[in-house]
Amino acid sequence: MAPSRKQPLAASDASAPLSRRTVLTAGLAAASAGALGCAGREKRPAGGEHFDVLVQGGTVYDGTGAPGVLADVGIVDGRVAAVGALAGAAARERIDARGLAVAPGFIDLHSHADGTLFDDPNAESVLRQGVTTVVVGQDGSSRAPGNSERHFQRMGAFFDAVDALSPAVNVASTVGLGTVRETIIGMENRPATPEELARMVALVEASLAEGACGASSGLEYVPGAFASLDELVALCRPLGARGLTYATHMRNEDEKLLEAIDEAIAVARGAGCPLHLSHLKTQGPKNWGKLDQVFARLQRARTEERVDLSFDRYPYIAYQTTLANLFPAWSRDGGADAFLERLVDPVTGERLRAEALAKVESIGGWDNVMVSAVAHAGDRAAEGQRLGSYAAALGVSPYETAVGLLKRSRGDVGMVGFAMNEDNLTRLVAHPLWMAASDGSAVALDGPARRGHPHPRSLGTFPRVLGLYVREKKVLTLEQAVHKLSGYPASRMRLKDRGQLKAGMAADVVVFDPATVADQATYTQPFAYATGVLAVLVNGAVALHEGERGPRRAGRALRAT
Ligand SMILES: [Zn+2]
Repeated sequence: MAPSRKQPLAASDASAPLSRRTVLTAGLAAASAGALGCAGREKRPAGGEHFDVLVQGGTVYDGTGAPGVLADVGIVDGRVAAVGALAGAAARERIDARGLAVAPGFIDLHSHADGTLFDDPNAESVLRQGVTTVVVGQDGSSRAPGNSERHFQRMGAFFDAVDALSPAVNVASTVGLGTVRETIIGMENRPATPEELARMVALVEASLAEGACGASSGLEYVPGAFASLDELVALCRPLGARGLTYATHMRNEDEKLLEAIDEAIAVARGAGCPLHLSHLKTQGPKNWGKLDQVFARLQRARTEERVDLSFDRYPYIAYQTTLANLFPAWSRDGGADAFLERLVDPVTGERLRAEALAKVESIGGWDNVMVSAVAHAGDRAAEGQRLGSYAAALGVSPYETAVGLLKRSRGDVGMVGFAMNEDNLTRLVAHPLWMAASDGSAVALDGPARRGHPHPRSLGTFPRVLGLYVREKKVLTLEQAVHKLSGYPASRMRLKDRGQLKAGMAADVVVFDPATVADQATYTQPFAYATGVLAVLVNGAVALHEGERGPRRAGRALRAT
């Protein structure tokens, strides 16, 4: 039977009711173990239950979509040992979850945390949302395999480096098909030769064998954009053989969205693999009306073409990308230097100006473009500014301002584009195939991961789903939302022992207050952590409790098996 909320917790190894603030201290842990005459695991009383950590008195949402039940969660050796009425059991650490929700740690299946994780393994913006696993290697770009200084030669070496780093959260990775192309062909816009294609397929095979949990493409980025349908099918066949998922940032998300969805479906059918559409959106006001067609197309793919598919979308109406993405993919052929040369070329430059202006018009004008980050320190004042107003203040045209920023930062400029609408977002979130994902980075209020003026999704995505779309808008029930933040993404990425709270699963746990959980980061003030997440456990270790980080980081690489 579940413990009653009204009774004080029965604490077998301490006489006073626990205060939430006390459980993290090593002194108390030692004292409580001593009081029982049980100083370590090896001295557990025979037949008695003794947990490393006991999360007590909360309402447990197990991640399957089942309603919450009052229960305790007992953890031993990094795994959930029992879920039920356990208040009488001994425990080294206790977390008082009375009045709170207890759920599997959230899984961010489209994360760019690999950008900063090695600079700041605390991944605070991630952890403070209740996320315990990030799936990186997204949009066609992974940290392995590759030969450049930002790459690890093999996926296995990347995972080994993650294990050596011991980050705050677990890290799974897909293999980026753009990265694979870059490794074999470079940044050139041309088809792969048969010999090159065979080498690319071999790299995908090796990456999967070493634990990548799927593959991703970024068909609006270079060199991913240079891949043909046939190339993508060939590279995804190894996924089909293993039942792993192809996740795609599609070739287009506005005027040619429906054609891009057709292409994604064709890849999955050709390769015989599950399909996941990353950050699905209908970008630009004139495409907002396409959502019914999008849903109908997905339905047809499932029922008539037997494609196993799903999608994610972050709960915001603005996207984030590189400013260079305002320009067509062909203009970025060959990399940043070649792109910058084309921008100032008298003939090509004019063509690019026309294409970029049309793109900006399609998302509603220059004030819907906010500069999120610049590489050139002299342009820091532009970060967080809308390009229309910023250019007006400078007395320069917005286009010239954008080109100036790109030149001085050697193409490395980030932007946030306000191009989607709330009605469509709500319909996406309500869709049975939707799951949450941030598309964000790991940032922090201080230290090396505080950079630029990021999209608030990096700090707020998961609490925003629970606060805005569950509590306020009631688009989802809490148990549905927990499933879409944990169990559903875990099953999509074949993270077999994650995403559910039951005996035998890895002890990734989040404790949050459904009445208060909320995002705090905004477009104007992005550096604010989410609130209402009381405790986070990663592999059984307390990673966050009452606003304080735990004494040790327990995240590790999750290799698909
Ligand atoms: Zn993307």
